[in-house]
Amino acid sequence: MKNVKKQIVGQDVQSSKKTEAPFFSALVKYTERRADSFHCPGHSGGQAFLKAPVGAKFREFFGENLLRADICNAVEEMGQLLDHTGAAYEAEANAARIFGADHLFFVTNGTSTSNKIVWHSQVGPNDIVVVDRNCHKSNLHAIMMTGATPVFLMPTRNHHGIIGPIPASEFAPETIRAKIAMHPFIKNKRRKPRIFTLTQSTYDGVLYNTTRLKHLLDGHIDALHFDEAWLPHASFHPIYNDMHAIGGERMRESLVFSTQSTHKTLAGLSQASQVLVMESLRKKLNRVLFNEAYLMHTSTSPQYSIIASCDVSAAMMDDGRGQVIVEDALKEAFAFRGELRESGLPFSAWEPPRLQETTPNELSQHAWLLHPNEPWHGFGAVEPGFNMLDPLKVTILNPGLEMDGSFSHEGIPAQIVTKYLCENGVIVEKCGLYSFFIMFTIGITRERWQTLLQKLGQFSRDYKANAKIASVMPEFALKHAQYAETGLKDLCQAIHETYKAHDVARMTTEMYTSPLVPAMKPSDAFAKMAHEEIDRIAIDDLEGCTTAVMLTPYPPGIPLLVPGEVINASIVRYLKFARAFNQHFPGFETDVHGLVKENGEYAVDCVREKRSRRSPNMAARTRRARALQYS
Ligand SMILES: *Cc1c(COP(=O)(O)O)cnc(C)c1O
Repeated sequence: MKNVKKQIVGQDVQSSKKTEAPFFSALVKYTERRADSFHCPGHSGGQAFLKAPVGAKFREFFGENLLRADICNAVEEMGQLLDHTGAAYEAEANAARIFGADHLFFVTNGTSTSNKIVWHSQVGPNDIVVVDRNCHKSNLHAIMMTGATPVFLMPTRNHHGIIGPIPASEFAPETIRAKIAMHPFIKNKRRKPRIFTLTQSTYDGVLYNTTRLKHLLDGHIDALHFDEAWLPHASFHPIYNDMHAIGGERMRESLVFSTQSTHKTLAGLSQASQVLVMESLRKKLNRVLFNEAYLMHTSTSPQYSIIASCDVSAAMMDDGRGQVIVEDALKEAFAFRGELRESGLPFSAWEPPRLQETTPNELSQHAWLLHPNEPWHGFGAVEPGFNMLDPLKVTILNPGLEMDGSFSHEGIPAQIVTKYLCENGVIVEKCGLYSFFIMFTIGITRERWQTLLQKLGQFSRDYKANAKIASVMPEFALKHAQYAETGLKDLCQAIHETYKAHDVARMTTEMYTSPLVPAMKPSDAFAKMAHEEIDRIAIDDLEGCTTAVMLTPYPPGIPLLVPGEVINASIVRYLKFARAFNQHFPGFETDVHGLVKENGEYAVDCVREKRSRRSPNMAARTRRARALQYS
């Protein structure tokens, strides 16, 4: 019999007994007992794999334990993740205590799913929602799924393509009310927004002071959701005080949610994620209602090794170990940054210059704050004390582009560096025009970052010698023979000059900060795709059309347009550039998700224009679109 009764009303965090990693322990115990099982999964503890050589190879590679521990949720002694009972519940309660949350739920399909769960638990059709414009696409998917009407907050951007903070003034309730007042589809202007979603730690590592934000927004928006996919480590080190969602003073009115990818910076297996909740003085979480949304997005066959990794990731940080573990990672990041500064290489870390001048206390938050109008960040008059850079996210700047968007004579586009590194066994996290970024997780080792430095040194030498692509990037040269005899430096320069000729840094900054006008709700535009009421429109005809798809250029992988928005001139200009660039430099293609290549033409699926509104110009455009689609 299960000895923990079904907990619905509140996770009684205090009373959870301190078994280390209760779910993992139960799983080990069950697996070691080798019970005869007649339940799914059908591989039956790995037995099925023995029926064919390729299966046996699989079994040998992954090991017997992984397969024997892969059990179905009918096993009573593991409890039920979906009802939050038994060992599964104990593990969640234990993690809630460790992370300082009132409630915590493990999620097996990443923070992509955690975000949708939070949203579906709070938001219904036509609700007003306030969303960071540069949020992860899962939040935009949630907008489409719930039928909400979004009001966006616009972040700053510098010309390196680094996304800066949303200015503090954007969060003021009166600014938000003004946006609602101006919104074309919101009828009842006085309705309170249901949810506020902010990317806490932007892709480039900029954090917000959550204490200030919570005070500013408490009671003005029902739920405050911080997408902390990159920030689960922040609860454990004082350098992040006031810079993460859970903890601190309780709000009077608003519920606070945090969604975290345990697999991104802690020790979770891929897809390991968690939802954390902090109740307010007036509002408790209704676990029954919340769980309906949880069930909507959770498989009825959760992968227990992922859940065990959530459990263990939390337990690892218990009893003060978290601070030591995070501090170790921080120190590795500081050491890397220091050595890069001293290296004389043409690369530099994006960081406050005060780190170079004196002997700063790198472990104090103060060293990492963004001050107003500092040239290094290029975000202008940021509010003092409102933002910091997470030292663990290291953006490496390449020569070629100044922070004001002007190009230097010589340049090293980041795409070439990252391709070079990749051929040499170093994979980076993200690549921009003249920057790329690496993450110092709790798993980083000195050898790992020293290898990176060494490879960057090797790149610089090959660059100076203008070594032939065939000799320094042989795999790439094999696939793209046209570059084989080109020198590394010459190739860098050719791409650099193309970027320069098109003023591409300003072009992309303008595109991302250009006014984006909604023509319909995102969910309505998305429905047009399901009903196939769309036309595939070629780039040259796109201006003024309403996109049915999300349009996302890689790099940086931040959605540019949401379904239902009008494609403006600066976006068309960028797409034309991407098309020309891709023709000139095969192998270095700018990938734009949502842009489809068909019969040699690039096109975007757009909402079909109404007949009555169709101008002669529009009719021609549609004819061309049809031809494109069916030829
Ligand atoms: C990665 C990421 C997600 C999605 O997380 P997964 O665990 O990969 O599903 C959500 N939000 C942000 C800000 C992210 O960076």
